Amino acid sequence: MHTDPDCLFCKIVSGRIPARKIHEDDELVAFHDINPAAPVHFLIVPREHIESLAEASEHHQALLGRMMLLAARLAPAQGANPGREGGFRIVINNGREGGQEVLHLHMHVMGGPRPWRRG
Ligand code: AMP
Ligand code: ZN
Repeated sequence: MHTDPDCLFCKIVSGRIPARKIHEDDELVAFHDINPAAPVHFLIVPREHIESLAEASEHHQALLGRMMLLAARLAPAQGANPGREGGFRIVINNGREGGQEVLHLHMHVMGGPRPWRRG
């Protein structure tokens, strides 16, 4: 599996940099965002170093689906309110103009009562 020794999220995945982890399995790791934009804000990353969604291939189809299903499962467990009146948002920034700062594919999962810090 491809990893990058200089990548921040590869370092978090491997435990070389600490993070408040909330989930780990053989493919995915989830941890709290260090600078939360909403009452609930965590990131889901693959263990594999994939630079962005643009670098993902058909080979990653199941992995991408698992990221979404994990988001839906972890969001209420982390405090997002259930049902239509609650909910959560998922965001994947891609590339510099897409707002991506860390070049290791990650899904933001945000939720909790409004207002949020960033829209
Ligand atoms: P993006 O702009 O989509 O690349 O988002 C990167 C996210 O990573 C930002 O929301 C940061 O707050 C978050 N982040 C940066 N460093 C860390 C860290 N050491 N632990 C947890 N989250 C981080
Ligand atoms: Zn990485």
